[in-house]
Order: sequence, then structure tokens, then C-alpha cells
Amino acid sequence: MKQLIVATSNSGKLEEMQVYLSGLDWELALKPKELEIEENGSSFVENAIIKASGVAKALNQWAIADDSGLAVDALDGAPGIYSARFGNSDQDRIDRLLRELEGSKKRTAQFVCAIALCRPDGSLALQTEGICVGEILNTEKGEGGFGYDPIFYVPSTQKTFAEMSSELKNEVSHRGLAFAKLLPQLEELSRSEII
Ligand code: IMP
Repeated sequence: MKQLIVATSNSGKLEEMQVYLSGLDWELALKPKELEIEENGSSFVENAIIKASGVAKALNQWAIADDSGLAVDALDGAPGIYSARFGNSDQDRIDRLLRELEGSKKRTAQFVCAIALCRPDGSLALQTEGICVGEILNTEKGEGGFGYDPIFYVPSTQKTFAEMSSELKNEVSHRGLAFAKLLPQLEELSRSEII
């Protein structure tokens, strides 16, 4: 069976990614903790490619990475690619975002997810993107998920990400949409490339 290294150290993202990839003809393995790739790109897509390509080359294996984050309209797209670095903990990041939006009536935002899959030589094989449109609440709601989930409300479901079952979040989320595009391409790739 072909091995695919999942290039993330975020346990919340990892859990979701494993669900999407579980039915495939690939054996998943985790990136070793000590292998750190610097995310110095200027977009989600660039960062996903940097991570997947760096891990693939370092291990000489197929690798998949996602780069994701929250772009808030009233903050000109911040925190965006800096979503993970917006504070020291999930709570810290949520508190800072709510502070920066205090008094703002414009609450629209998008979660964006870019996925890249690279060959063992680091070259890019597949790349997709998913976007989930929502609103930032004034207070947290729901207990599930991770990161900014308790303040991200999706009007079409009338729930925050943190109130959704994992099945519903997988259906509507930026990561779910990016994986829905990726999976048929990944199956096609398994058929067409000698791996
Ligand atoms: P990175 O992709 O590891 O650079 O970090 C993305 C950051 O965006 C995470 O640390 C979270 O704070 C946030 N994020 C990405 N996806 C989600 C999600 O599905 N729910 C909540 N927060 C997310």
C-alpha cells in the first residue's frame, strides 16, 4: 500500500484530515514532530505547498498538507495566514479577535483551506482550495471542534462550527470542501501514476 505522510502537528486538523483520507488506498503516517518546515509563504496555497513539498523531500515520501485560517472582512482579511500566530492559545486568539471586532457591525468572515499533495521529489501533484462563508459572533457558542470554532457561525446551518456534529462540519467546512474536490483527483492520480 502507498504511504502518505500527513504534514501537520495540529491535532484538531489531523483528526479531521484522517476522516477524509480514511477510505483511500493509501496508508497514512504522521510527520515526525522534529521535522519542522517554516511557513514563509504569502498565501494559504503557497504555505500548503511549502509544507507538503518540504516534508515530502525530507522523507522521500508522498506528503499532504493543508494551510487554513480565518479571514475577517472588517479586519481587511486578518488574521488570514497568521491565524495560528494570532495568540498563544485558542482562547487567546478568540479573545483578541473579539476585542478587535468590538463595536463592529460588519461581522462577515471566511474560513479558507488550501491543500497540497506532493511527490517524494517535492514536486506538486495536486492542489485544491475550499472556502466557508460565515459570521463572527459576539460571544462563544458550542463545545466541539477546535481553534476559532465557537465564534464562527454558518448561517445556512444556523450553528457555529463548535455546535456542529463532526459529520456536519465535514460537510460544510472549508477543509471539507477542499477535500471533496481533492478526493476524486487523488483516486485518479493513484490510477494514473505508478506509485
Ligand atoms: P495552520 O494552517 O496550521 O497554519 O493554522 C491554521 C489556524 O487557523 C489554526 O491554528 C486555527 O487557529 C485556525 N483554523 C483552521 N481551521 C480551523 C477550523 O476548522 N476551525 C477553527 N479554527 C481553524
